[in-house]
Amino acid sequence: MRENISRLEKISLLLEPAAQDRLHAIKKIIDYSEDFLQNINSLPSYYVTDKKGLGIYDSPIGEDAGNLDELLKSLKENVDTPGLNPASKGHLGYIPGGGIFHSSLGDYLAAITNRYAGVFFASPGAVRMENMLLEWMSSIIGYPKTSGGNLTSGGSIANLIGIVSARDAFQIKAKVLDKTVIYLSEHGHHSIDKAIRIAGLNECVKRYIPLDDRYRIKSQELEDIICSDQKAGLRPWLIVASAGTTDVGAVDPLTEIGSIAEKYNLWFHVDAAYGGFFVLCDSGKAVLQDLNKSDSIVMDPHKGLFVPYGSGAVLVKNKIQLLESHHYQANYMQDASTSTDELSPADLSPELSKHFRGLRLWLPLKLIGLVPFRAALEEKIQLARYFYKELQSIEGIELGPYPELSVVTFRYLPKSGDANEFNKKLVNEIQRDGKVFLSSTMLNGKFVIRLAVLAFRTHLDTIDLAIDIIKNKIERIK
Ligand SMILES: *Cc1c(COP(=O)(O)O)cnc(C)c1O
Repeated sequence: MRENISRLEKISLLLEPAAQDRLHAIKKIIDYSEDFLQNINSLPSYYVTDKKGLGIYDSPIGEDAGNLDELLKSLKENVDTPGLNPASKGHLGYIPGGGIFHSSLGDYLAAITNRYAGVFFASPGAVRMENMLLEWMSSIIGYPKTSGGNLTSGGSIANLIGIVSARDAFQIKAKVLDKTVIYLSEHGHHSIDKAIRIAGLNECVKRYIPLDDRYRIKSQELEDIICSDQKAGLRPWLIVASAGTTDVGAVDPLTEIGSIAEKYNLWFHVDAAYGGFFVLCDSGKAVLQDLNKSDSIVMDPHKGLFVPYGSGAVLVKNKIQLLESHHYQANYMQDASTSTDELSPADLSPELSKHFRGLRLWLPLKLIGLVPFRAALEEKIQLARYFYKELQSIEGIELGPYPELSVVTFRYLPKSGDANEFNKKLVNEIQRDGKVFLSSTMLNGKFVIRLAVLAFRTHLDTIDLAIDIIKNKIERIK
């Protein structure tokens, strides 16, 4: 038996490379990442290949050891080339993500030390670090000390956690669902609908409130509908508003909606996944008034703090409500459940074992300081406004709402022919060209093109380039 165990030990030691092998591998990884970063400004934002990464299947998972050079070659060809390049300055579609370098160092350390950030007992310092980050987020939006939160994988899970907390705080049980009303915007993110469904709330009555000419919830209509629902014997429960919609970057009237939620005793959830961190800059702060009137809020560090994908956050004003929906007990966790010093992430989300997400946020925020984050966010708003102004001087362009945050919508109105067809062709041409990536949406049946500025590498030169490309492509299609 001992012999067999020793034999297995020898093989399993391959899981622990020696120091010189580690350094050798690290050097290759650094060479790869440096090659990527040094060429980032000339890499396309969108790249169409025939195989679309299919080559990854050519080398299936097997018994034998691979070769790092070959694997990196496959990574480059099959993964880091085809499709959208979110790290590029020309990513101006959807809501751009981040990828600041300092976060990668935090992720590297988190992976090496593998601290167990789910439970205070296991890693008190890691949990304190995550709670400190959440307290900081609470402070920038003006939440009180009673608030608590969770660092999630993204905004979708954060919305789910917020809505589940709202459900339990108001004791929304199966038998009352069809009498319970949720108030929404047509321009709410689809992750809200998904969260409602996953939370078992799809049988609730859903009211989509009419929007004003800037695609914001009309608060008077909201109040009127709540009143008529009350009169009809229904139970108004939840309002979901956006601080930065995906379509046009609209900020719903949070002050008015907050007052309505208070007056009628409704839970007020704000999806600020895209817009929330703009409170860090002056122009953003001016349009994001009264975020703290909400009961729960979602903000995505992998958008507004420019960290790599895998970082969202939810904050709940009364952390007990968050805790009551997500805490758990289990016999095998009895050693861990004694501490009351700090709330543990595992008691505040569906996750137990989880990535130590705090480190990829803490390291850059501490190492660089807030100054460049604030400047970059202000810069992105100003770039969107500059783009808006410049596009006004192109004949035939029809612009959407003035950008309060950093999304601009527009379309070209051809002298003849179908405008929707023309703009579909236009955005396809821009994407195929690949130097910048813009996306599109439908607004009241009109096909419009969107420019969303939030990639941290996007600066004035990229916006000027985008304007040139738009002008050229319009001429070509005409
Ligand atoms: C991006 C986004 C989401 C979804 O967040 P993920 O991090 O992609 O899961 C939700 N709401 C809004 C407004 C968003 O912009």
